Amino acid sequence: MPPPDLLDVAVVGSGPNGLAAALELARAGLRVEVFEARDSLGGGCRTQELTLPGFRHDVCSTIQSMVPLSPFFRGMVTDLEARGARLLTPSVAFAHALDGGRAATVTATVDSTARALGTDRSAYERLMGPLVADATGLVAGVLAPIRRPPSSPVTMARFAAAGLGSAARLSRRFTTEEARALVAGVCAHAMLPLDQALTAAFGIFLTVTAHQGGWPVIEGGSDRLIDALAGALRDEGGLTHTGRPIHHLADLPVARATLFDTSPAMMVDIAGERLPSGYRAQVARFRRGPGVFKLDWALSGPVPWLAEECRRAATVHLGGSFDDVASAEEDVARGRHAARPYCIVVQASVVDATRAPAGQHTLWAYCHVPNGSQVDMTSRIEDQIERFAPGFRDLVLARVSTNAVEAEQHNPNYLGGDIAGGAGTLRQTLFRPTVRWNPYRTGAPGLYLCSASTPPGAGVHGMCGVGAARAVLADLTRRGGA
Ligand SMILES: Cc1cc2nc3c(=O)[nH]c(=O)nc-3n(C[C@H](O)[C@H](O)[C@H](O)COP(=O)(O)OP(=O)(O)OC[C@H]3O[C@@H](n4cnc5c(N)ncnc54)[C@H](O)[C@@H]3O)c2cc1C
Repeated sequence: MPPPDLLDVAVVGSGPNGLAAALELARAGLRVEVFEARDSLGGGCRTQELTLPGFRHDVCSTIQSMVPLSPFFRGMVTDLEARGARLLTPSVAFAHALDGGRAATVTATVDSTARALGTDRSAYERLMGPLVADATGLVAGVLAPIRRPPSSPVTMARFAAAGLGSAARLSRRFTTEEARALVAGVCAHAMLPLDQALTAAFGIFLTVTAHQGGWPVIEGGSDRLIDALAGALRDEGGLTHTGRPIHHLADLPVARATLFDTSPAMMVDIAGERLPSGYRAQVARFRRGPGVFKLDWALSGPVPWLAEECRRAATVHLGGSFDDVASAEEDVARGRHAARPYCIVVQASVVDATRAPAGQHTLWAYCHVPNGSQVDMTSRIEDQIERFAPGFRDLVLARVSTNAVEAEQHNPNYLGGDIAGGAGTLRQTLFRPTVRWNPYRTGAPGLYLCSASTPPGAGVHGMCGVGAARAVLADLTRRGGA
């Protein structure tokens, strides 16, 4: 019999995956405590007045594309709203700005998006129509934590046929500059050269989520989502502790299961020889992805995009044509800093007036840089925005920059500024972080990894946490007494 004061579960780190794992396990009736290094919960879902009073900036994630769709969050959308996390959806899910005041957009339906693509209309409909028609099956298959036969095999086969290849190959289905640029902008979220396998899958999947969920933001800031999760956890009896960096297992209470919402390397540092040497060796070979350089601005007005569509999108991709974006991403993969970087620009205040004082706006943008870079990309990012929105710099009231090294100082999971928890190569997408049937188990009884370095990878969906929680429950049941 375990001692009566033995904790059931300790979770190290309170990002969306750590909290999802904690909530799943607390709902199963276990005594759960979460230990967070920083003075607030949330990991990649924090919101702070980074620039000026009254300007609420999301330090990391803003576009909660997975929240309406992820099996973890979908079941609690009403509960989230009741707890103050309300989703606000822009009329344009994402836009890709082009020279000459043009833009390509993804809007609510496949039909409206396809119609705007002119001669590429039917190619877009053929690609996206069947996948969006079974978006629920596709999302369940892609976000499924453990390998098992998909519930929608035909949709998954269709997705694999188009997605296993590269973005470059995918772009060849289209002839217009607009459609090809749209492909480049969304596939470049993969943080890989656009001629690499699987980059198409990133773009296709994200586009399906845009059609199905609309790429919303949380009213007031992403931290409201964390407040809601933490509230739900407390209602289940779970406890959270902030200001508790964990350096050794001895910093934690003894628990039947310990979950790490950390980088695999951090888990090895903490657990040391409790982990099998083979597992530690595999973790040492797990490759980082590129870093990001991020800028947050307080603006006196909305960004003066030349293309009207960009004024209605919470997410705008910059970088120009397919070839320009591909060349910028190739630079990063080769350890160079692109002169005209591909940028992801996020303007939450397009739909959320509460982010800034009346009439004013918050904005953030990042570009990819080599891992560990300390190069200041401010002028290159601002030049790209000026290219598509002349007069932008005149609106800047304040700016804060975060280079790749500073990103890791903010959150130790972002090794060298890699915000995806490991390079998204074909191998590391299938086997993350090590080659194991169940990627949440570590080979050490009672120790589990639950961060974005496990399947299904980066993003605010909570499914890495759900996968780890299921492994814990299965193991405790086998040992008796879950
Ligand atoms: C700039 C930026 C923009 C992004 N934009 C989006 C977006 O728009 N949409 C989206 O879906 N995703 C976005 N992401 C990615 C998303 O934020 C992450 O994929 C997600 O937060 C990963 O969740 P996680 O729970 O695995 O880890 P994290 O959110 O990184 O949380 C890990 C937590 O563990 C804590 N921790 C680590 N080590 C220790 C330790 N030793 N002791 C105690 N605590 C520890 C950390 O402080 C942190 O709070 C963005 C990320 C960044 C950086």
